[in-house]
Amino acid sequence: MADSVASLGGEFGFINLIRSRITDPAGIRGIGDDCAVLPMNSTTDLVVTTDLLIEDVHFILSDITAAQLAYKSAAVNLSDIAAMGARPIGCFLSIALPKNVTAKWADQFIESFIAICDRFGATLLGGDTTSSKGPIAINVAVLGKVPCGRSKLRSSARPGDLICCTGTLGDSGAGLDVVLSRVASAENAKLDADAEWLVRRHYEPTPRIQEGLLLGELEGVHAMMDISDGIASDLNHILKASSTGSVQLGADVHVEQLPLSSKLRRWSAANGKNAIELALTAGEDFELLMTISPNDLDRARGCLASLCPLTVIGEITASHKGIRYMDGDQELTQQFAGYTHF
Ligand code: ADP
Ligand code: MG
Repeated sequence: MADSVASLGGEFGFINLIRSRITDPAGIRGIGDDCAVLPMNSTTDLVVTTDLLIEDVHFILSDITAAQLAYKSAAVNLSDIAAMGARPIGCFLSIALPKNVTAKWADQFIESFIAICDRFGATLLGGDTTSSKGPIAINVAVLGKVPCGRSKLRSSARPGDLICCTGTLGDSGAGLDVVLSRVASAENAKLDADAEWLVRRHYEPTPRIQEGLLLGELEGVHAMMDISDGIASDLNHILKASSTGSVQLGADVHVEQLPLSSKLRRWSAANGKNAIELALTAGEDFELLMTISPNDLDRARGCLASLCPLTVIGEITASHKGIRYMDGDQELTQQFAGYTHF
């Protein structure tokens, strides 16, 4: 049998294969960050991102409302704009719909899509519409702007930086677990308040646009990205992008410092789930992950004070490669892996 895509090293092996055949034009940053960065004029850079959502891979149609699906399709893209410290300006929506989708569903989808785009300043500028003989497919692209050369890149982490994240982690993964159990049981039993909140965190993540803009203005915020695949995967992207031939970066992550919501803690204890593992591996939290010079932590916290918590979860080091997971002084033997498609 022919080798599968997985044999290339999965999703990221495939992306590396593409990347190895591309040379960025002068002045443009293409593949490799949350957004591509292109000069727009003498003062402003344009950032561009795109994400694809496929029925039965990213969502189960029977469990998600049209409004939630539209919201999430836009939010996951806006989150990549936030990760650059950029301001959204416009978006494109391309959608493939099976012929049995109702007019009411389509109307609710568009109403919700436009509402979230308006809320974050991204005007719907175009797209494409086709029928689908299979699953629903939704591709969104968002454009944003940022002062020239001021995008927050994955490649700017430095040894000694603190690793920080916004909000709480693992909620979305727990919400997905609740959704999958509900779909498997084929019952629509009423969820308790914690489970309902976790499902909302999964279906309606908050794009951290305002937070990204504020953090984007701080010189001491070095590398930044959003958490889509879990820290176990996403922090590795920062480490790889920020390592050079002479300095290989690693990280210590302190699992006891991970910001876990009280709802996730209660739900995990009641359902025999490991909240720390969810926080590290489940992804789709769409919080911002960044590295900050220790001198600028208070300033960054001050900027976000009225918006969301900023938690230190570890530090960048040049003394080892990869991520070391620590619980107090003890290094964990367990390894963690984020989400990958293949
Ligand atoms: P994110 O999770 O922030 O959306 P991804 O992990 O999906 O980022 O992608 C990592 C990088 O690879 C991004 O710069 C993205 O644009 C690029 N990329 C992913 N898939 C493709 C593809 N099929 N063709 C070209 N570039 C791709
Ligand atoms: Mg991203």
